Amino acid sequence: MLIDFHTHAFPDKIATAAIPKLSFVSGGLEPYTDGSVSGLKESMQKNDVDVSVVLNIATNAHQQRSVNDFAASINNKKDIFAFGSVFPFSEDAFCELERIKELGLVGVKLHPDYQGFNVDDIRLKPLYKKISELGLITVFHAGLDYGFAPPYGATPEKMARALEWFSSPVIAAHWGGVNCGDDVIKYLCSKNIYFDVSMGYGMMPKYYAQKIIELHTADKMLFGTDTPWHNADMEMRLLNTLELSSDDMDKITHKNAKKLLGIE
Ligand SMILES: [Zn+2]
Repeated sequence: MLIDFHTHAFPDKIATAAIPKLSFVSGGLEPYTDGSVSGLKESMQKNDVDVSVVLNIATNAHQQRSVNDFAASINNKKDIFAFGSVFPFSEDAFCELERIKELGLVGVKLHPDYQGFNVDDIRLKPLYKKISELGLITVFHAGLDYGFAPPYGATPEKMARALEWFSSPVIAAHWGGVNCGDDVIKYLCSKNIYFDVSMGYGMMPKYYAQKIIELHTADKMLFGTDTPWHNADMEMRLLNTLELSSDDMDKITHKNAKKLLGIE
């Protein structure tokens, strides 16, 4: 079984414009789907992915409701688990978190750089508390981001501080932080946080990939691709070079994700 904990898809009428725009701000990455839900499902079939977690991001306060309604509309909890999103400093972020829970979504995605905040901003403590009380999973974009200048909102050091304010599961995407291998090892490895392995292929030196899994253990690693920007075939190729035990591979590819998502 293969569960992809990091994918993106958009409503059909938004996908056509969103994909070229996102590609441009991400350094010209080539998309592997057309950005639609049907495109994602085609890619899942082609790459033997059984379940995808679709991560949606509200990039402004006005978008929250429509982003979460879209997430709810595709969240069948069979092959698609869609996460909601809130714009952290919006007036109705707390109400929207409750609505996310009522809609049956199991988590939220936050992107500090697209949403303009630092993960360890003390003003976010109540928001994280609310997320924790609702038992929602939080996925943070983590590390650097091609489209933004420093300082970055979710460096491993900031993430380690923010983590203290959560009591529900937290996932730092992209191996704990894009281009932050040394600081992931220094500040996050062995802490109570999950990393997804998306955007590793072609970017993550073997040394860091092996060291992070060795120190953090396969118990807290989740398979992910960042589809449409990478795909499952690519990320599996990286994992297959790491000489992991089949037990560890099972945990990373599906066992940990099943537990988090509540899949029997
Ligand atoms: Zn992503």
